[in-house]
Amino acid sequence: MILCLPSVLQNASMETYAITPFWIQVFWLSFLSKSEALAKILGNMIGTFLEVHEDSLNEGWGPFLRMRVEIDVSKPLLRGQFVPFPWMAGELWIDYRYGRLPDFCYECGIIGHVFDKCPLFFEKLDEGIEPNLPYGPWMEGSPLPRSSYDRQLPAVLANVTNSEKGKQILDTTEIIESNNKYLHLLRLNCLSSQSPKGFSFKDQASSSG
Ligand SMILES: [Zn+2]
Repeated sequence: MILCLPSVLQNASMETYAITPFWIQVFWLSFLSKSEALAKILGNMIGTFLEVHEDSLNEGWGPFLRMRVEIDVSKPLLRGQFVPFPWMAGELWIDYRYGRLPDFCYECGIIGHVFDKCPLFFEKLDEGIEPNLPYGPWMEGSPLPRSSYDRQLPAVLANVTNSEKGKQILDTTEIIESNNKYLHLLRLNCLSSQSPKGFSFKDQASSSG
C-alpha cells in the first residue's frame, strides 16, 4: 500500500499517486565523500530530492548516506547506478536500498504486484526464457531510526595516533576540495540540463527491461 499526504490526495490523479517519497540508503560511496550537496545531486538522479538524514552524513554512523526522495513508482525501482567521481578513475557503482518498501515485483522491479502475477514473467515463460528475477528482498533497506537509542556515536578517529590524524586531515582536505569543485561542476550541469552532460545513467534495470 502506498500512503500519500492528505494535501497530495486533494488533487489526486494517476500522476500524483505515482509519485511517492521513500527513505533511500546509498551504499559504496567513498570515504569522506558524504555531504548534503552530494545527497541532493544523487537524490535528484533517483527522483526528486526532499531531505538528507543528517546522522548519515557522519562517517562513523553507518556505511551509507540516507536521503528522502520522491520517486515515480510506475517505473522500475533503481537498484543502483554507475556514477563518475572526479577523484577516481572510471565510474563507481552505488547501490540503492529502500526503507519501508511495499510489495514489488522481483522480475520487473515495479511496486504493486509480485513476480508470479507479473505479465513480463509469464511472457518470458511462454517464450521459453528462464526468468532470472533481477530484483529481490535485498532491495529493502533498514527503516529510519525512530529514537536516539538507535543511533551510534562516531568512533572513527578514536584510536588514531597524532601522526595518523595529521595525515588523515591532509587527505580529508584534498578530498573535500576536489569534492567541492566537482559538486560545483555538477550543479552547473544540473542547471543547464535536466540530464546533466558527463553524467551517465547506466542503470541495469532500464537496460534489462
Ligand atoms: Zn512485474
